Amino acid sequence: MSIFSKIAAGEIPSYCCASNDEFYAFLDINPLVKGHTLVIPRREVDYIYDLTDDELARLHVFAAHVARAIKEVIPCVKVGEAVLGLEVPHAHIHLIPMQSERDMLFSNPKLQLSGEEMQSIADAIRAKVTD
Ligand code: 5GP
Repeated sequence: MSIFSKIAAGEIPSYCCASNDEFYAFLDINPLVKGHTLVIPRREVDYIYDLTDDELARLHVFAAHVARAIKEVIPCVKVGEAVLGLEVPHAHIHLIPMQSERDMLFSNPKLQLSGEEMQSIADAIRAKVTD
């Protein structure tokens, strides 16, 4: 079981932003900016483009709902989307609220946020996600 499957199953704690039977969204533990969120399919697939076309479409619709909620909570110009998957072999989309393109640089130093702040960001996003 991948670390992200354990997170989606609740076996490892996370700051949950949205959840349904098929997908799970949670705050990145080493955020580039406040509100940096990961969106995963519960089905364990390493490479995102090995998902079926229908899964990919539904994953992106789910991610869009989360992105709209992030934009309501975190002041930003737009929410950017990135796919890397070089560290964790479980398909995921990064949603990153951007002030400028520099916020999408994964070589930037990561933020250190308190557990309380992470929880309050996740709670605020979850409250804004619509079905
Ligand atoms: P990638 O696989 O896209 O290159 O990077 C994996 C991302 O997952 C990184 O941004 C990293 O901070 C995040 N990450 C890795 N392990 C955990 C974890 O246990 N919990 C959370 N919330 N994020 C993680």
